[in-house]
Amino acid sequence: MPAKIIDGVKIANQIKEKLKVEIEELKKKGRSPSLSAIQVGENPGSRVYINAQKKSCEKIGIEYKLHQFKEDVTQKEVADFIRELNNDPKVSGIILQMPLPEHLNARQLQQIIDPKKDAEGVSPTNMGMVVYGKPFLGPCTAMAVMELIRSTGVKLYGKEAVMVGHSDIVGKPTALLLLDQFVTTSVCHIATGERGTLPEYVKKAEILIVAVGKANLIKGEWIKEGAIVIDVGINRVGGKIVGDVEFEVAKERASYITPVPGGVGPVTTAMLLKNTIEATKLQLEQK
Ligand code: NAD
Repeated sequence: MPAKIIDGVKIANQIKEKLKVEIEELKKKGRSPSLSAIQVGENPGSRVYINAQKKSCEKIGIEYKLHQFKEDVTQKEVADFIRELNNDPKVSGIILQMPLPEHLNARQLQQIIDPKKDAEGVSPTNMGMVVYGKPFLGPCTAMAVMELIRSTGVKLYGKEAVMVGHSDIVGKPTALLLLDQFVTTSVCHIATGERGTLPEYVKKAEILIVAVGKANLIKGEWIKEGAIVIDVGINRVGGKIVGDVEFEVAKERASYITPVPGGVGPVTTAMLLKNTIEATKLQLEQK
């Protein structure tokens, strides 16, 4: 039987409906959530992402402010601006848009963001909380992956998962979140690919998550019968957006699978909004 397609747009809309109610309550308490985005230079890719963020925020009642800097801005100027946002009580969440020009140190700037305003969950404190199994403002894509897996209703305890990709923002935190649910988790990366053992790992995965960025890297025939497949990859092929998994073949073997587009992407954006609301609530409690 072909897999059930996990509808990321529907899940994202359900999350947003719940957030709308919370936003109304916050507004009654005199707190209007707002998200401040920092962009350096111009990048067509991140422009699309920024427009989508703005639209999603405004649709549910979060104010979205874009702060643009010229390509030649210094590290200190951006750092000082982040500190200003940290100290501004009207700012609930901060997001530093990637990519940054080469002369800027993204990691260092992310460390300056107040963990209570870190809408993307990328500061060392929030990443550290993932290790403790108590992410408060968790990394958005990893949290989205967990939400999509949970939407299947399948019991996670004791399952075998394989995470392909070990980036700081997706692969590593997702693996930790799975471990926290007592899922036996293997992490594969470029060296697994080069060694040629990637198919062996994928074939035993009851839950497979792929975040690499190479179209059709994961062959459909490698998918274990009945697996849950979460495809994080975004690749442009012949004017179309596709994931990392050979979808048409994989969906005949999996029990649940996310499409690209329409799977992880919309839920990741919903998590950004959720983090902004959680940040607003935290700041209200600490007032
Ligand atoms: P990255 O680009 O930082 O790292 C890629 C990972 O893939 C590394 O761990 C690398 O070792 C591994 N890899 C590369 N070639 C491999 C191979 N042949 N076999 C096995 N592993 C291999 O990763 P990222 O920032 O997590 O992004 C991964 C993909 O996910 C990209 O396509 C990105 O656009 C997409 N993404 C999507 C969302 C979303 O919201 N949908 C969010 C973040 C990233």
